[in-house]
Amino acid sequence: LVSRYEPGKFNVWIEYNDLAMITKPLNLGQGFPDYEPPSRFSNFLAEVASEKNLYFHQYTRGLGHVRLVNALSKLYSNLINREIDPLNEILITVGAYEALFCTIQSNIEVGDEAIIIEPFFDCYEPLVRIAGGTPRFIALKNTKPNSSESHSSDWKLDPEELTSLFNSKTKLIIINTPHNPLGKVFDYEELTMIADLAKKHNVLVVSDEVYEWLVYEPAKHIRIASLPDMWERTITIGSAGKTFSMTGWKLGWAYGPANLIKNLVVVHQTAIYTCATPVQEAVARGFEHEISALYTPESYFQNLCKELKPKMHFLSNVLKETGFKPIIPDGGYFIVSNWTIFGLSRLLFNNNIL
Ligand code: PMP
Ligand code: GLN
Repeated sequence: LVSRYEPGKFNVWIEYNDLAMITKPLNLGQGFPDYEPPSRFSNFLAEVASEKNLYFHQYTRGLGHVRLVNALSKLYSNLINREIDPLNEILITVGAYEALFCTIQSNIEVGDEAIIIEPFFDCYEPLVRIAGGTPRFIALKNTKPNSSESHSSDWKLDPEELTSLFNSKTKLIIINTPHNPLGKVFDYEELTMIADLAKKHNVLVVSDEVYEWLVYEPAKHIRIASLPDMWERTITIGSAGKTFSMTGWKLGWAYGPANLIKNLVVVHQTAIYTCATPVQEAVARGFEHEISALYTPESYFQNLCKELKPKMHFLSNVLKETGFKPIIPDGGYFIVSNWTIFGLSRLLFNNNIL
């Protein structure tokens, strides 16, 4: 293995899933839905495969199938309140993973620094290191350690510590909202603090928003690209897998200003060229359906979090009854729990104290 790929040698998902295949436990190691995705979306793929259109089975446009980038442009132009050029400001990728890869590969030079907020989705660190960059970490801190119930919104960045990480080598900061794994949804004030620092130090913001539709009311998802003067320096990343509860479809995207997206395109066209046509066509139809239903009771995007919220409370309560101390999330797929109590009892047991 060439040395620059050493930082990517260990991968938690490969290890956990291989172990799960051998020992067959209830696998909570990787987050994905264990229920059927809505049939109206999966049916689109069946329709596309059976329609008599030979072009659905051939290569499509390298930067993204036109029907899909048009749908995404329509959706996000509305949400961030600016016209997104479908042909130059959106890149379709193999999942959000590839969007992260293209973004970091095309922006990090050897010696550049990238700010990563802990805890973080595991690939951020090796992606930065493989590109020759140095990650600078800052941990979210529990601002209410003594409260009887812990919430993801209690976990915050220390403004002074964050400020101290920015310097002339800082190339980018990666944010993830809603956050994997804490379930934190960054509020307007927090995003403004990050945005102000990014503007002051001319730093790029990579905003991983794969859980953008999984937000439990009253929390609200805010896209940092929609903050004043942030479009110019933000690449926003999304995932059809998370959006439609079909993680196996592995389709994602990055959107941002044309002068930034064109750099991601170089990485994409070199390694991938184009994503699977039928999946892109089916996802485009899914989005078209959702765009027309967005503010109606039909909307899957709106209903998904309504469906998940009671399940989230159910699991939080089960965890509490068992002795865990869950951090109640405002969004995303995950619940992080404090299990120190079990660690301690095992320690006492092993030392014959219990
Ligand atoms: N970012 C985050 C925060 C994620 O949780 C995931 C998937 N777990 C991804 C990116 C990658 O998404 P995809 O499956 O679309 O590649
Ligand atoms: N979203 C999942 C998780 O964070 C899986 C990530 C992956 O497949 N690499 O648990």
